[in-house]
Amino acid sequence: MTIQNTKLLKPTIAIYDFTDCEGCEVQLVSLLEDFLQLEKRVEIVNWRLGQEHNHPGPFDVCIIEGTPITLLEQKLLKELRAKSKVLVGLGACATLGGIPAIVSKKQRNAMYKKIYSENYKPRGLDSLPLANYVPVDYLIHGCPADKADILRSLTDLLAGKMPAPFPYPVCMECKLKGPECRLLNQKPCLGPVSQAGCDAVCVRGGTGCYGCRGNVSGANWTSLKKTLSQFMTHDEMKKYVSVFLSATDEYKNLK
Ligand code: SF4
Ligand code: SF4
Ligand code: SF4
Repeated sequence: MTIQNTKLLKPTIAIYDFTDCEGCEVQLVSLLEDFLQLEKRVEIVNWRLGQEHNHPGPFDVCIIEGTPITLLEQKLLKELRAKSKVLVGLGACATLGGIPAIVSKKQRNAMYKKIYSENYKPRGLDSLPLANYVPVDYLIHGCPADKADILRSLTDLLAGKMPAPFPYPVCMECKLKGPECRLLNQKPCLGPVSQAGCDAVCVRGGTGCYGCRGNVSGANWTSLKKTLSQFMTHDEMKKYVSVFLSATDEYKNLK
């Protein structure tokens, strides 16, 4: 893979967002100092949230935050794929469907009508990962995406190599920090099946892992479900897993 244009031109980056809370872009903004350094090496040519003048493309790298839940967003996603050498999903909404996937299209449309009146014509569809519509080259996981992980991924991409996913689970980072395992105390946690890279921030903060970074390679859901079922009902497990994983096979397999 190469994303260098020529010796004279810097690689071009575009940053787009679909339906989401824009928290992952706030992470980008908070990386300002690092971005100023990065900007010496790249040209950010399209970023609705960050600049006034934007170029329509084509792009070397296109970073997309959010899930495409309208036909317009799905059409734009396909156009962006066609004019980008490398397409990167940023954050759990883009990589998993994320929090917007907690409600189905039917539930979402009922809410729209309740809030905006019966005359409102809803445009929302089901919330699905970008990869359900187009090939995606790399996923930067998390809700929000981790700043160090964003920098690591962009640095690798600009060096012309594909960043490697974390090959171990959140449990590895959790145990290095030392909190007692929640599962031993019959409290839910998806750490054993979730990809590391967040330094087990939720567990260290006192809650379980909800799996916002997606599956680690070789995730053993069968074993985790067996453990969780020792102290959770099936409905409780479904509710817990649905927070980030409603659009995934793992959640559907719980039904
Ligand atoms: S992944 Fe989380 S922080 Fe990022 S846009 Fe979606 S809801 Fe917001
Ligand atoms: S299951 Fe959760 S609490 Fe236990 S080690 Fe793994 S991440 Fe930590
Ligand atoms: S601990 Fe789990 S839910 Fe929390 S950031 Fe890490 S992967 Fe996401």
